[in-house]
Amino acid sequence: MAVPSPVPAENPLTGARRIVVKVGSALLVDPGSGSLERAWLETLVEDLVRLRRRGQEVLLVSSGAIALGRRQLGLARGALRLEESQAAAAVGQIGLAHAYKELLGAHEITVAQVLLTLEDSERRRRYLNARETLNELLALGVLPVINENDTVATAEIRYGDNDRLAARVAQMAGADCLVLLSDVEGLFTADPNRHTSARFIARVEEVTSEIEAMAGGSASAVGSGGMTTKIAAARIAVAAGCHMCIAAGHHPHPVRRIEEGARCTWFVPHATPVAARKQWIAGTLRPTGALTVDDGALRALLAGKSLLPAGVVRAAGHFERGDTVSVLALSGAEIARGIVAYSDGDTARIMGRRSVEIAGILGFRGRDEMIHRDDLVILRGERSDASVELAP
Ligand code: GLU
Repeated sequence: MAVPSPVPAENPLTGARRIVVKVGSALLVDPGSGSLERAWLETLVEDLVRLRRRGQEVLLVSSGAIALGRRQLGLARGALRLEESQAAAAVGQIGLAHAYKELLGAHEITVAQVLLTLEDSERRRRYLNARETLNELLALGVLPVINENDTVATAEIRYGDNDRLAARVAQMAGADCLVLLSDVEGLFTADPNRHTSARFIARVEEVTSEIEAMAGGSASAVGSGGMTTKIAAARIAVAAGCHMCIAAGHHPHPVRRIEEGARCTWFVPHATPVAARKQWIAGTLRPTGALTVDDGALRALLAGKSLLPAGVVRAAGHFERGDTVSVLALSGAEIARGIVAYSDGDTARIMGRRSVEIAGILGFRGRDEMIHRDDLVILRGERSDASVELAP
């Protein structure tokens, strides 16, 4: 349902714990000269620093590699072939990373470059690794600057647009706010350049087909995303319990402006990121594996603790690290589901053992927990006394 109200009552940006900001190529790169909009970028960086000083964690998803690189390589205007884009990205990404290092470094902030492909967020094992890396970087006080790994991404595994990449990053990082800075102010009921009757939409409670129809197919000249990819991003973000905002980014201090009440479109989730994640885990149709736990571990799980290898007495089925598995009581009743940190083979070797022994047994130091409590959901009601059938 779209409510054309002027400004949301409370700005989600102010209260967010972890924020992903995405900047598009059209903002970063001057279309005439093909060079970086440095003065503008300085004001964006000041905004990010301001969020961090308030104790908020920040991840930046930045486009611009292809737009910067193509100019340096003298590649003509118009559509590039895939190989040309990849070559341009390889060249442009260095300039981009350098600029962020310099500008954030001036505020004594360490920058990390993280290049992701669609596979990193779609395939669960790599997803888990990428998620842990992002968490670790944030825990170390680093500001991750993320882009698509355009150089290796083939046509099939490309995002192609950083709007959806940013939404996947928000989902992966359990962010509670995603800001898409773009060359448009937000969502209108129709194209405002063509229809004088077009109304601005300040708040979207649900991404309906009506909302999707409003997005049309508009695309800007420099970046690859249009409103359609932003709506696709909104679907991913709100399903992950993350607020998302589309805002005009070409003014100085584009993030601060949003807090100061600049017009923008907010997409509102119905759950917190943790609740959304747990819903997703609980909703896994048929887990491919099951872990049977002893009574001590069962009590610990019900008390909100993680599942340790020591409490596992049996492992069944086939699963990889990152898969969702069932957790069974000794009676065979399914009591929980969670994302497992080890494959079936590794589980067979470490179950019943203490976490300090893991490295000695497996030859690498994995997680202490078999299933971390953030990745675990206790099933209440209908499923808890039924025995489970695993997917083949
Ligand atoms: N990853 C591309 C780049 O950095 C941009 C994709 C987009 O603009 O959405 O050039």
